Amino acid sequence: MPAGVDNLERLEEEACREIAAAASLQALTEVRARYLGKKGSVAEVLRGIGDLAGDQRARIGQLANSAKRRIEMVVSERRRALERGQRDRTLGAERLDITLPGAEEPRAGHLHPVTRVFRDMVEFFTSMGFSIEEGPEVETEYHSFEALNIPKLHPARDEQDTFYVEGGNALRPHTSNVQIRTMTGRTPPFRFIAPGRVYRHDLSPRHYPMFHQIEGFLVDERVTFADLKGVLHAFGRHLMSDDIELRFRANHFPFTEPSAEMDYGCLLCERKGCGICSNSGWIEWGGCGMIHPQVLENCGIDPDRYQGFAFGMGVDRTALLRYGIPDIRLLFEGDLRVLEQV
Ligand SMILES: [Zn+2]
Repeated sequence: MPAGVDNLERLEEEACREIAAAASLQALTEVRARYLGKKGSVAEVLRGIGDLAGDQRARIGQLANSAKRRIEMVVSERRRALERGQRDRTLGAERLDITLPGAEEPRAGHLHPVTRVFRDMVEFFTSMGFSIEEGPEVETEYHSFEALNIPKLHPARDEQDTFYVEGGNALRPHTSNVQIRTMTGRTPPFRFIAPGRVYRHDLSPRHYPMFHQIEGFLVDERVTFADLKGVLHAFGRHLMSDDIELRFRANHFPFTEPSAEMDYGCLLCERKGCGICSNSGWIEWGGCGMIHPQVLENCGIDPDRYQGFAFGMGVDRTALLRYGIPDIRLLFEGDLRVLEQV
């Protein structure tokens, strides 16, 4: 191609037209090669300027170079436009309408077995006029032990059983701290339940380092052990069966006097003996007793005038029995396959 100002202008115009018409990145690459490649039209013009006179050669050379730059610019603009178009097409094809109904029906969850048992227990006691009290899970030694008649050297304070934290506090090993906090500064009569999490060093199919307890206590004048048994019988009937049988075995707790362990007759074998009740016909349910006069006094309540009863039981064990779950650890591992069966 002969070198010349007219030729260069025409070349540039043609290039721009073809670039604008390039419908794909591939076509654009081809157009670019035709004009700017080693054997392209612009290179051809530049090769031709060797024959020109000195001043003209410099001028045409300059024009050819600026034409080259402009074409290069138009090519990159076109490339960006083509890439944008391609991206929009891809996004359009992959567009997701999140307002459309799902292909699968959403699965409804349900409450955790422990929560269900808890709610059931709380419902019973509130219907009997007990109110609900809560206390801290990190508790002072005074509220967890001393005020409950558990002196410094008592085995319950052993670090084998209790998780101690910095500053002389401990993760509460029972919900009885709530008893102390609630009774202190209050004048009887009153009745409360304290449901919550407690912590002990233990791990086996029947024990977990964190578990749930519910504790109840009532203080009034002329309260007797018979009142305690009456409340627990009604509770057992509500929670398990109208045919429930309870058994009270004398025991010792530092914070009650007299104290008893209570069992209920195994409902599965009707006390004939089975795997669930270890062939004894009875299942341990919890501890109870009359609140120790010293504990009342620790809370500023006159033990000569008032008496009270207290009881406490594990909630998780009830959930295991009610839903036929063989291992307490299954309750807290969050395995949906287990929880869905409940
Ligand atoms: Zn049994």
